[in-house]
Amino acid sequence: MKTFKAFKYKLEPTDSQIALFYRMAGCGRVVFNDSLEFILNILKKETGISDKKALYKHLNALPPKERIALIKKLPNAFKLNKHLTQWKKEDNRAWLKEAYTDNLQQRQKDLSGSANEWCKGKRGFPVFRHQRKMAHHSTMRFVNFAKYCAIENRHIKLPNKLGLVKYRNSQHVLGKPKNATVSLNACGEWHISIMCEVEVIQPANVAGGMTGIDMGIAKNMTLSTDSCADKGVFYGVHSDRVYQAELAKEQRKLSKKVLGSANWKKQKLKVAKIHSKIANIRKDYQHKATTEISKNHAMIVCEALKVKNMSKSAKGNNDNHGKMVKQKAGLNKSILDEGWGELRRQLEYKMRWKGGDYAEVNPEYTSQICCCCGHKSKSNRTTQSSFICGDCGHTMNADKNAAINILNRHLESLKAPKAA
Ligand SMILES: [Zn+2]
Repeated sequence: MKTFKAFKYKLEPTDSQIALFYRMAGCGRVVFNDSLEFILNILKKETGISDKKALYKHLNALPPKERIALIKKLPNAFKLNKHLTQWKKEDNRAWLKEAYTDNLQQRQKDLSGSANEWCKGKRGFPVFRHQRKMAHHSTMRFVNFAKYCAIENRHIKLPNKLGLVKYRNSQHVLGKPKNATVSLNACGEWHISIMCEVEVIQPANVAGGMTGIDMGIAKNMTLSTDSCADKGVFYGVHSDRVYQAELAKEQRKLSKKVLGSANWKKQKLKVAKIHSKIANIRKDYQHKATTEISKNHAMIVCEALKVKNMSKSAKGNNDNHGKMVKQKAGLNKSILDEGWGELRRQLEYKMRWKGGDYAEVNPEYTSQICCCCGHKSKSNRTTQSSFICGDCGHTMNADKNAAINILNRHLESLKAPKAA
């Protein structure tokens, strides 16, 4: 079986290459924003809502059916690409002609992809990319690696006048490079991620059993089995709490500097470096945990992550995650959500690499149902950590009970005849 694997390296570009990166990223951002504006204008007509803020509110509250109906009215990436040709002829966009077209078309594909994810309820409707948030949006993709790029003697050859860019060869590229993405992080460092097609040998038998995973706050991941970590419990890292005081101190200093001044920029970098430290610790934990779980199991089942569900649960009217409102408010919720999404993403691809199974199930009521007798009640969960069934008296750790339900739900769906 063929699958994709990414290899990431730190780049060491020259000043003129950096300038070119910035210019390319800027062009990409303009095209992304122009395309979004174009789409929003269509949506304004379709919905009759002309105020942008109100429109976004409306779009993000729409039920799935209406999202599908709306997205059918929007141009797809291919049609957007055609408009791009037209825009390049306009006076105020003439400079786009100098830009690397593949990269611009990629930005339109990104937008189209994000809109599709919104349609599936996975995220909110795409928003404009601000220059201010340069680090988040300075990416450019080089497609058709074999034709335009190459790895040559400690350098990566890139198209569009970039030429040979020095990189830190921290690991060897495996398989066939298909495309590459250059990105800037908040610390001002450029990286390249090379996506390669690798041949994965599908084993006849995948080692390990099945497990369901419940993701939470107090305990990051609880497995239905005791097969990993501390009896199947991964507590997670709280690197944000460790650095909280230091971060607050440096942020306070930043707020006292003159916006945009040299000192402000210096301080901003300091803050970015702490953020990066926090993120790296979390990343390290996530990779270690997902590797351990995927190594030890042939099938992994998680709850499907739904944007709608998440926002509801914060208010506390969905399932009993509502009990966590206080804890949720105290933590940076977006980091939390991102963390759960990232864990699922890693589990999914790590299982694919090894030829195992990964599945997601509907998360509804998994924490209220008794895994022993199937009795469903809110009162089953007496505290955050303990589950006592009101019907059969079964007692268990609440997260463990939920993890078993998650696994069982998937197993049941395998048994059920598929709808035609
Ligand atoms: Zn029961």
